Amino acid sequence: MNETRDISGQCLCGAVTVSAMASKPIVRACHCDMCRQHTSAMFMSLATDEGSVKINGPAKSFRSSEWAERGFCEVCGSTLWYGTVANGERHLAAGLFENAADAPLKLEFFIDKCPSGYALEGKHRKMNTEETIALFAPEED
Ligand SMILES: [Zn+2]
Repeated sequence: MNETRDISGQCLCGAVTVSAMASKPIVRACHCDMCRQHTSAMFMSLATDEGSVKINGPAKSFRSSEWAERGFCEVCGSTLWYGTVANGERHLAAGLFENAADAPLKLEFFIDKCPSGYALEGKHRKMNTEETIALFAPEED
């Protein structure tokens, strides 16, 4: 069993600070085209407890699709979060935290979209486009 931890981090310039509770801090990497364009490689997020994310400072967000938004620092442009519009959930960028909050990489999304020139090492779950969409797609009414 994991102990819940308070974690905090900041953007490159320090204008934006973030904090959250993390009872199971793991890192997830997403290789989708939008994450790749937004971050230059993959978006690595940290799993935090629902509703615990706090963001202070000049953060802005960009609506990247019908269902998602991406947060960034207005001053230095650091990637801050990937958010889902429907429930307001924000997945903080692992890079904001020192040593990625000591969290292990446990999951890769859109593994089939990862460019052929590099790969992440280690034993963890890898989900392709079909599996990733099945996990996140809202249920059809
Ligand atoms: Zn900044």
